Amino acid sequence: MDLFEYQGKQYFAKFGIPVSAGDIADTVDQAVEVAERVGYPVVVKAQVRVGGRGKAGGIKLANNADEVRLHAGNILGMDIKGHVVRRLWIEVASDIKEEYYASFTLDRSAKKHLGMLSAQGGVDIEEVAAKAPDAIARIHVDPVDGLTAQVCREWVRAAKLNPQVEDEAVAFLLKLYDCYIQGDCSLAEVNPLIVTPQGRVHALDSKVSLDEAAAYRHPEWADFEGMASLDERERAAEEKGLQYVGLSGTVGIIANGAGLAMSTVDIVNQVGGAPANFLDIGGGANADRMVDALTVINDDPNVRVVFINIFGGITRCDEVANGIVAALSRLAKTAPLVVRLDGTNAEQGRAILNANTSERLIMIPDMLTAAKKAVEMAGA
Ligand code: GDP
Ligand code: MN
Repeated sequence: MDLFEYQGKQYFAKFGIPVSAGDIADTVDQAVEVAERVGYPVVVKAQVRVGGRGKAGGIKLANNADEVRLHAGNILGMDIKGHVVRRLWIEVASDIKEEYYASFTLDRSAKKHLGMLSAQGGVDIEEVAAKAPDAIARIHVDPVDGLTAQVCREWVRAAKLNPQVEDEAVAFLLKLYDCYIQGDCSLAEVNPLIVTPQGRVHALDSKVSLDEAAAYRHPEWADFEGMASLDERERAAEEKGLQYVGLSGTVGIIANGAGLAMSTVDIVNQVGGAPANFLDIGGGANADRMVDALTVINDDPNVRVVFINIFGGITRCDEVANGIVAALSRLAKTAPLVVRLDGTNAEQGRAILNANTSERLIMIPDMLTAAKKAVEMAGA
């Protein structure tokens, strides 16, 4: 779950990470009210879950109520890379002497946490990585050892941060690491991490992703869900324990395994179709799971056909075929299904489907032909 900047900052604050005083505003009047409360100058910041808001005109400095009105009015409703601004964060403006970059995330291949720190912050870190890779100091942190103060200090030196703020930077990064670990983040990024003229180190932006697998440890995360971007379909899928991501096309997709589900989305695109969703039905693709998956997919009014792409490994194709047939008998209405089965017991599975073929069920043994058929049917 990705947090908005203001939610990330509120989360940071719980771990003692310094952030600016501010509040949210959903209207121009509220924006002025918050600005009057926190004191001028303020920064008016678009709350959308996408970076580069500054460049897009979604971050503006305001010195008085008129300027807040002007900027809040312009930014509310603004479209930033396809995200419409519905909420603002108004905070006390900071004086900036230096802009750094800091983040923690998981490096799966190293089986360790990865810390990245750079004295060249503020801009896109991808740009820094491309143009001046040496300007980013990386450390791997063994989750068992954790981040020690000593290692953190060496890291700060390697990143060539201003030596005058070394102690503050170390303290900041240890808190950020604590937030990342105790707070069960999969990403905790601060860009820019600023140094003020008074030598204070301070988070001016936040990008936080929470590891949803840890949600059971964090009842307080429920507060973040109010503004979550989950659409209706995703909410329904989540309740049914399905790995579903809603897309905007007409071809519903069910596959077993995240990799195959992504390949299915790709192949539908490649043959000129538009996927309506990503759905990984997981291992046990039995009748109940199939009914749940098809229900969620068919609730999407855009769906004209469902492409079921199964590769049987441990899951046997005959079981899946029986599940599909049983699901069809239980569902009053569904878009037609194009099913591709391969792998363990494929022949038996195909035989079961062939024996039940109808205008609602078409079996095609290979993936490319099945994708083409599904796209053709969606277009009809
Ligand atoms: P992003 O563009 O989505 O990454 O949004 P940021 O929150 O990082 O803001 C973009 C840029 O706006 C920062 O890098 C700063 O240069 C500038 N900015 C944001 N807040 C302040 C502030 O309080 N004071 C000043 N002077 N500049 C700010
Ligand atoms: Mn930023």
